[in-house]
Amino acid sequence: MSSFRNTLPSRHVLIVGGGIAGPALALFLDKAGIRSAIYEAHPELADIGGAICIAPNGMNILAQIGLADQVAAAGTPITSMAFHTPKGRLLGTMAYGQTAGAGRPAIALSRAVFHAMLLEAAAARGIAVHYGKRLAAIDDDGTRVNATFEDGSEAQGDILIGADGIRSRVRRCILPDAPEPAFTGLVGAGGFLPNSAVPNVEPNGEHVMHLIYGTKAFIGYAFGDRGTADGAFWWYALARDKPLDAASRAALMGDAGKQALLAAGNDWSPEIRAMLTKTTRVIPPLDIFDMPSLPAWSSGRVALIGDAAHAVSPHSGQGVSMALEDALVMARELRDAPTAEMAFATFVEKRRERTEKVIAFGRHSGNSKRHGPVISFIQSLLMPLFLRFAPSFAWVYDHREEWERPEEEKRAA
Ligand SMILES: Cc1cc2nc3c(=O)[nH]c(=O)nc-3n(C[C@H](O)[C@H](O)[C@H](O)COP(=O)(O)OP(=O)(O)OC[C@H]3O[C@@H](n4cnc5c(N)ncnc54)[C@H](O)[C@@H]3O)c2cc1C
Repeated sequence: MSSFRNTLPSRHVLIVGGGIAGPALALFLDKAGIRSAIYEAHPELADIGGAICIAPNGMNILAQIGLADQVAAAGTPITSMAFHTPKGRLLGTMAYGQTAGAGRPAIALSRAVFHAMLLEAAAARGIAVHYGKRLAAIDDDGTRVNATFEDGSEAQGDILIGADGIRSRVRRCILPDAPEPAFTGLVGAGGFLPNSAVPNVEPNGEHVMHLIYGTKAFIGYAFGDRGTADGAFWWYALARDKPLDAASRAALMGDAGKQALLAAGNDWSPEIRAMLTKTTRVIPPLDIFDMPSLPAWSSGRVALIGDAAHAVSPHSGQGVSMALEDALVMARELRDAPTAEMAFATFVEKRRERTEKVIAFGRHSGNSKRHGPVISFIQSLLMPLFLRFAPSFAWVYDHREEWERPEEEKRAA
């Protein structure tokens, strides 16, 4: 087994992918005194995606790279979820991660604002981000890794971490026979709108995320970015048998998408219909996939983190938080393990069970959004009961990954 820590004092990590997991990993590696550089396919920092909600477990990770307060100041804390019928009747509410000792609340903001913060923090630490570098191939000779990009350029490092998302090229390089992402039967999109356009319904207040299970579509809305004219946002899930083809995608783009959603909700309340018509920016539709279990997350000196290893569907609200937890755990293990291979093995030990449980949770939550009128009606009847006796989601939101190991673990090492 090749030694990582002992023979490579000037360690250098190649990180492929400058989304969420990549820059977060670079920041934790920097904290550990390990050098890294990020290689991102996009030609520049791109303003991609709609709004996200970073769950309490993800906020705990951000606190450990000094970003939690900045993120909290940019977005809106979400402390509860309210469930409604399409006609606007309140079915009940549920706390969002406010169980004992849950720490920071979830924060809703746009992905673009959060992404820019991560990359600015990386730049402030002197971490290089190379744009326009789409990985093509990897050569791992057992002591060094060589990455070749589509523009013909190359980079060398001691190890390579694939943080290149659900369509990961790194995964294809190291696990050519691995299963492909699986379509969840849902298409998602959304839009931004002025805060003043958010329906004034019970329970009122900016810290509530409203969720409406319509007979043909699911829709949610909340407040997000502060300090912008259209910081509030909505998103939807539409059931589909297969991913969108070009024609059905075009029918869901821009204003047509807004009209399609209005049509899918012939039972939406007037407040919801009014909100949709006040949308100022529509997010293009996206087929929702998640990842079947992979046979491995690493090979030799190359490993996967974030969506590349275990994409969870957005219906779990955990994709960003899983990427952040991965980043902390991978950097912590690389800091402390005697070899890269041992760090990768411990990473799998610590992360596989939890991420697979979250994938199943996301699938279950997504399935509850693809029922027809009859099941939706029964669901709305049962919702108040469910909310009263809801299972605890503390295992999702209260989970804590800490950069500093507990004293007993340190003594045992
Ligand atoms: C519609 C939608 C809504 C969501 N809402 C939420 C939410 O509310 N809360 C939440 O926690 N999560 C949410 N998620 C999930 C979350 O966005 C992802 O789980 C998270 O972004 C994963 O981070 P990542 O860094 O692993 O991958 P990504 O963020 O996808 O980043 C991967 C990066 O790798 C780059 N890349 C790809 N291929 C290459 C290559 N060959 N070479 C170099 N670079 C490459 C990409 O350009 C990208 O920048 C949502 C996802 C979707 C689709």
